[in-house]
Amino acid sequence: FPIEFTQAKPVLQAITSAGYQAYFVGGSVRDALLGKPLHDVDIATSAYPAEIKQIFKRTVDTGIKHGTVTVLQQGQAYEVTTFRTESAYQDFRRPDHVTFVRSLREDLKRRDFTINALALQHDGTIIDLFSGLADLKARLIRAVGDPNQRFHEDALRMMRAVRFKSQLNFKIESQTQTAISNQHQLLKKIAVERVHDELIKLMLGKNWTAGLNSFIATQLYQTCPGLSTAKKALFALTTLPTVPLKTESAVWLLFAHQLGLTPKTVKPFLKQWKSANNIIQSVSRSLPLLDKFLAQQNLSNWDYYYAGLPIVLLANQIAQLYGLGAAPAQLQKRYHQLPIQQRRQLALDGGDLLHHLALQPGPQLGELLAKLEQQVVAGNLPNNRQALLQSARSMLN
Ligand code: ATP
Ligand code: MG
Repeated sequence: FPIEFTQAKPVLQAITSAGYQAYFVGGSVRDALLGKPLHDVDIATSAYPAEIKQIFKRTVDTGIKHGTVTVLQQGQAYEVTTFRTESAYQDFRRPDHVTFVRSLREDLKRRDFTINALALQHDGTIIDLFSGLADLKARLIRAVGDPNQRFHEDALRMMRAVRFKSQLNFKIESQTQTAISNQHQLLKKIAVERVHDELIKLMLGKNWTAGLNSFIATQLYQTCPGLSTAKKALFALTTLPTVPLKTESAVWLLFAHQLGLTPKTVKPFLKQWKSANNIIQSVSRSLPLLDKFLAQQNLSNWDYYYAGLPIVLLANQIAQLYGLGAAPAQLQKRYHQLPIQQRRQLALDGGDLLHHLALQPGPQLGELLAKLEQQVVAGNLPNNRQALLQSARSMLN
């Protein structure tokens, strides 16, 4: 019994004492049975949201329309969600409206995979109505009920299947896999942000090459922005060593490189995926450095200075997947040995130039400063005022 469940037990007990049912459900039960660390403990209950709010002093209406109330207990927050069914599906997406029910079976039935449809009672009893335990043991991702129907109801589940494959190193049960292959087109009904989240989770999973393999084999990639004609490039990724990727930027850098994108073309690609601007910037800045690592060219001082250490390390992380790059500590050392790391460390500024060289503010001043900066970074000029002023004077002549 993981500590998180022990801590949360009073919440279940308070609900049951009030005459309702309450269970731990979903990912936490699955992960606990697999001996994995838990992130969030979800609770499902027969009590309606208003009834939950009467039981606990401190609650937050997180998603009350969907039946979710957050219960605050001893510094922890627990999502308590009323049993529900989702009968009226529209457009292959999960509906906005849900129907609350009093039956655990109905609630578990609407869950995506059998391993996600287990419930755990406060006394440790596992409720397993859809053979989730057998599938956990056999390491299988199997849809609850008819897979075709379930993916038709909510096409995102297809991405969740390949994502769990990567995270758990499970196999996708064959009828479930066939249903994904047959219905992969439905994924285009899903908002790109949600597909994005699942793809990133897949790529950050421990067994991302396996997850990616299923993403390709089931043809899910065909409905994804910028990937539909990239089967070969995607497949090449699956032959890389399964070293865990660390960040979303690393994932996109890897894709960008393999798809042959440039700092320019990667931007519209990532915009289509609705990536955040900081991610777009990191990826487009690290791409040229990655190219240098892969071509076994040395990075210049200016490369380090201009990109900054995090971007260098990002490019290096991907280069290492291809068996190139360097030890991060070495790159870190090199960065810290730069004459300066920031422009503000330059021993003189624009004001000094104006004052000593009788210059007018304007583009000439900026260019002069930039030249001095480059010379200092390259190690061609010592970073002291006298030397810099002298050099500036000679540049002006
Ligand atoms: P993790 O939190 O590790 O990503 P999880 O299984 O907890 O994995 P969540 O998205 O947190 O996934 O969802 C919690 C539970 O809700 C799932 O275990 C599953 O039972 C159910 N669920 C989530 N998304 C869907 C869906 N699209 N269709 C059906 N059931 C779902
Ligand atoms: Mg979860």
